[in-house]
Amino acid sequence: MKIFEFARPADARAAIATSAQAKTAQQGADVRFIAGGTTLIDLMKLNVETPARVLDISRLPLDQIESIPDGGLRIGATVRNSDLANHPTVRRDYPVLSQALLNGASAQLRNMATTAGNLLQRTRCMYFRDTAMPCNKREPGTGCPAITGANRTLAVLGTSEHCIASNPSDMCVAMAALEATIHVQGPKNSRTIPFADFHLLPGNTPHRETVLEPGDLITHVTLPAPVKASKQLYLKLRDRASYEFALASAAVVISVAGGNVTHARIALGGVGVKPWRSQEAEAALVGQPADQANFRKAAEAAMRNAKPQSQNAFKIELAKRCLTHALQMVVAS
Ligand SMILES: Cc1cc2nc3c(=O)[nH]c(=O)nc-3n(C[C@H](O)[C@H](O)[C@H](O)COP(=O)(O)OP(=O)(O)OC[C@H]3O[C@@H](n4cnc5c(N)ncnc54)[C@H](O)[C@@H]3O)c2cc1C
Ligand code: SF4
Repeated sequence: MKIFEFARPADARAAIATSAQAKTAQQGADVRFIAGGTTLIDLMKLNVETPARVLDISRLPLDQIESIPDGGLRIGATVRNSDLANHPTVRRDYPVLSQALLNGASAQLRNMATTAGNLLQRTRCMYFRDTAMPCNKREPGTGCPAITGANRTLAVLGTSEHCIASNPSDMCVAMAALEATIHVQGPKNSRTIPFADFHLLPGNTPHRETVLEPGDLITHVTLPAPVKASKQLYLKLRDRASYEFALASAAVVISVAGGNVTHARIALGGVGVKPWRSQEAEAALVGQPADQANFRKAAEAAMRNAKPQSQNAFKIELAKRCLTHALQMVVAS
């Protein structure tokens, strides 16, 4: 395995051109970008990822957080999770993002992990991480032992008969609720991808997790201007209070006027195959009184299409309580 380092602004083009030589941007690509390394190196140590060439982009000048003219925020791809969580503008205008980041991993990991790397972190499904086991996501067509096996922590929303892996990111849940946009520079052109379109459902191609193509370098993420008079909250429920992935989480952005909800953006973590924006919950909230009965109705709507596996039916009620409680907390704050 060879490591190549890219540090000057002009190097981004060379990194993209080199990465474009890979057959895929997904699992198994023989040329990979590396940023903080907290996902990729982890998986290389397990032989789950075996790239021949690793392109170190962590020193490219993509580490700035800047306000943009429309009132939004531009977050560079290599901004570290800890810097993003503690940035004064993020803490003031996007507290749900700061809270989600600070609920993830550990302080040491957040000091290494980057914005783009977090968008592309892989599932914690134990079969995916064990090369002695079959896994459709790691080796297409080999089967999904999780469906009849250990699935307590896996997804109940968006699953297919080929994969039920949950997306583990906290940051992504907040970004889904904030309606972020992902900016990509490819070998031929640059493009923008609405957050909701970035991650793919597993369907019968669970090895394809995002819309990225070979050579695509995420350069930055933008957030729209904060909704005026909105309140935000991230609530994460897990087996222990720190250094653990979500069993269920909720990111809430809500405005209330005269006792009624006027604006709601809701996303769930831990329960979906991708960061799960719930337009069903949003529709159930807007125009209704901001009270517990309606919060519970919104949570019911969010989980209406949930499909439990043998060990994770408890997640459906847990996610409902998580969202209901998050809404109560944020409105009372
Ligand atoms: C023990 C442990 C506990 C954790 N707990 C949590 C948790 O509770 N919550 C949580 O949300 N996360 C958790 N994480 C995951 C952590 O947040 C991710 O590993 C981290 O965000 C990945 O960022 P990175 O920069 O290190 O990515 P890397 O490992 O460098 O890269 C990850 C992937 O992104 C690709 N990539 C990186 N940058 C770019 C770019 N600019 N353009 C295109 N592709 C790119 C790489 O090729 C690679 O495929 C945990 C991780 C560990 C190891
Ligand atoms: S749930 Fe997905 S990642 Fe886990 S074993 Fe099945 S196919 Fe692999």
